[in-house]
Amino acid sequence: MAEIQIKQVAKSFGKFEALHSIDLTITDQEFLVLLGASGCGKTTLLRIIAGLETATSGEVHIGGKRIDHLPPKDRGISMVFQNYAVFPHLTVYENIAFGLRMAKLDQAEVDRRVNRTATLMHIEQLLQRYSGQLSGGQRQRVAVARALATEPDVILMDEPLSNLDALLRMEMRAELKGILAESNTTTVYVTHDQVEAMSMADRIAIMQGGDIIQAATPVEVYRNPAAHFVGSFIGNPPMNFLPAKKVSDGLWTVAGAQFDGPSSNKNELNFAIRPEDLLLSDNGPLQAKVTLVEPLGSHVLASCNIENNLFRVVLESDTSISRGDVLNLKPMPDRVRWFDPDNQLAV
Ligand code: ATP
Repeated sequence: MAEIQIKQVAKSFGKFEALHSIDLTITDQEFLVLLGASGCGKTTLLRIIAGLETATSGEVHIGGKRIDHLPPKDRGISMVFQNYAVFPHLTVYENIAFGLRMAKLDQAEVDRRVNRTATLMHIEQLLQRYSGQLSGGQRQRVAVARALATEPDVILMDEPLSNLDALLRMEMRAELKGILAESNTTTVYVTHDQVEAMSMADRIAIMQGGDIIQAATPVEVYRNPAAHFVGSFIGNPPMNFLPAKKVSDGLWTVAGAQFDGPSSNKNELNFAIRPEDLLLSDNGPLQAKVTLVEPLGSHVLASCNIENNLFRVVLESDTSISRGDVLNLKPMPDRVRWFDPDNQLAV
């Protein structure tokens, strides 16, 4: 059992609070992604779990045992970093065996584990090569194999795919996901790439300014963002937002059209909808003037203007529209979300 519990973990660097009181439980064998913009505290939180950074306050437990006072090597954790420090003067075999030799495993066991993880990572044919002679993607696999070979309870990964080209990155993310699912480890994976997060995670913890704003499944964060920030950060293009004014209890006016919405003591809310959740319809209540048409193969992306707000719509690829057209748009009712403009939270 390698459940990770982060309890009220805070971290200050001098006067700067990089993490406010963070509470998060990562269940045994879960693949949790920490996602957020640069500087939001992802790496700091990962380094605290690893023991490479000390929290200012709070506790970290793994498998029910408090571990924040233990040195990194006694935490049952392996790490893969962005620069995946693979030793160029060692063969792939010796790179993967490195942690096993440190742990003084006998040669038969070293052999077994190196061969097993190399096969898993599809690098068994490279074992005798020096890692200085490998491509970036191959070196990446060596780093992951080395982390897996120690059979850790927990693997921490910090932007491990960021140095790879787009195609290799896509391949590796699918492979890594499969391999980690088979390896029974609990994984915490840092990225600022929302596609990577959505495609790999069991659950995504979205961070902003040292806080976790929402921790939920990819579908949940996409469909039901807990805050305006999540809706605008997840999804490409992001959610559309329009100001809404109360007409009466549960009735709101948005860009001149009326919508049923939540009961709220606020007079103003933000109406939100994803670009693919609108239909073209003669009686569509929202009028959007097209400013840019981007045919993207599988669909057409139309950027529009609604009362000086940028509003994007994803339409079927054979839709014939031009700049300057006015679209009548009908939001799918069950896809509309509402946010409080003061605290930015979902209503
Ligand atoms: P990135 O995606 O750019 O790596 P991140 O979300 O991982 O960003 P962190 O590296 O955790 O962000 O940093 C969080 C904040 O803490 C940043 O504002 C950073 O400047 C600050 N910070 C991190 N380490 C230190 C340090 N040793 N001393 C002072 N400030 C630090």
